[in-house]
Amino acid sequence: MERCPDQEQRCKCPWCLTLSSGIGAAGKRERQSLCLLNEEVALVQILVTGGAGFIGSHLCERLIDDGEEVICLDNFFTGSRENIAHLLDSNRFELLRHDVVEPIRLEVDQIYNLACPASPIHYQFNPVKTVEANVVGTLNALRLAQQIGARILQASTSEVYGDPTVHPQTESYRGNVNPIGPRACYDEGKRVAETLMMDYHRQDGVDIRIARIFNTYGPRMDEADGRVVSNFIVQTLRGQPLTLYGSGEQTRSFCYVNDLVEGLIRLMRTEGIHEPVNLGNPHEFTIRALADEIAGICDSPRRVRYCPLPQDDPTQRRPDISRAQLLLGWTPRVELHEGLRYTIDDFRARLAADRIGSRRRAVQRHAAVNGDAAVNGAGKAAGHTRRLQDKPLTAVSENGARVSSAG
Ligand code: NAD
Ligand code: UDP
Repeated sequence: MERCPDQEQRCKCPWCLTLSSGIGAAGKRERQSLCLLNEEVALVQILVTGGAGFIGSHLCERLIDDGEEVICLDNFFTGSRENIAHLLDSNRFELLRHDVVEPIRLEVDQIYNLACPASPIHYQFNPVKTVEANVVGTLNALRLAQQIGARILQASTSEVYGDPTVHPQTESYRGNVNPIGPRACYDEGKRVAETLMMDYHRQDGVDIRIARIFNTYGPRMDEADGRVVSNFIVQTLRGQPLTLYGSGEQTRSFCYVNDLVEGLIRLMRTEGIHEPVNLGNPHEFTIRALADEIAGICDSPRRVRYCPLPQDDPTQRRPDISRAQLLLGWTPRVELHEGLRYTIDDFRARLAADRIGSRRRAVQRHAAVNGDAAVNGAGKAAGHTRRLQDKPLTAVSENGARVSSAG
């Protein structure tokens, strides 16, 4: 045989001499693979925490498409095996069931730290655990990065700006966050995570990246995460009235997930950017306009049910992306109308296949068998069990089988 059977020559087959691995002179790990054809191929191993979630699964998919080796780590609190099922056959993809609040030792070159529930109903489900995931989880990821000389990217958020008084939001704006409100577990948790990133960089020279991600949408969003895009699409497709919180005049800027993933990867691959970088689509819409857009695409009359505005709900949000444009040459390409069409098609297909309903039923079966209090699904994963069991439960998660043990 003249060629390595893996056309990309990055595999661990007998035709390739696998992995000379060790700590190099610069203190960085050096890994390379030598194919029998004697071509040197740089091998990048990447850890994606929260890789079975909405953004994480798209990121893993893109990295695999790029020929990288990916370890996806997740505790399946809000993520699911279904999201990454199509990647399981790849010999460059590995799945670990693990909770980031527990330390883990792995050999990788890059870490994307995404593990954290992202929608308000999910991160408020067990707020203490959310703080823990952000603070202890990020600390563990940073310690790992320091030990093995890996570059680490933190998935931060526009929520660090709170209810912003500066518009659009530049990275220099320090935010307006209520430290004791119901969103604080997420907002302040992410702010501490940024602090840890900067301190590990200044104190220990860890090679960090901080992405401040604005509202992102796309296929594989969890239909029960309570976010506005998923709620409005599912409600429209089911012929239900759209739940408009407050007047609907509050604004958000919605970024299609593929654009976001491109931004994350560019940020990770670009040398020397240690300051936070906003990643989001600067086109700003009122929530009422979003409702009109979704109803229009689905060719359905818009019916609205007005609901109270949640506490501390930001009134406006739009990223200033000058820094990303300048440093990464990155601008989102997918317009809201186009991105919503892809997303609606995905929800429509899942509803038609009854995957949404069957997923919820699977979780309910799991809850019944295991005697979980979380009969509607959330809180299944270790450590996410609610501290107070007297509130209504709204979220859904998937029963991910243990593929390999870690830590
Ligand atoms: P998601 O809830 O779909 O994904 C989060 C993933 O992390 C899930 O797979 C979940 O099971 C996993 N996870 C949660 N806690 C964990 C723990 N303790 N240990 C291991 N895994 C854990 O959310 P998403 O929308 O994909 O968001 C991914 C990241 O991007 C999050 O850090 C979020 O804060 C950030 N972000 C997202 C948005 C957005 O609009 N989606 C905006 C800003 C920031
Ligand atoms: N929202 C709404 N109806 C819904 C869900 C959300 O009007 O069914 C509003 C919510 O109050 C907020 C905006 O839509 O002003 C975006 O909410 P989401 O939870 O998607 O994101 P975040 O508030 O975290 O930006």
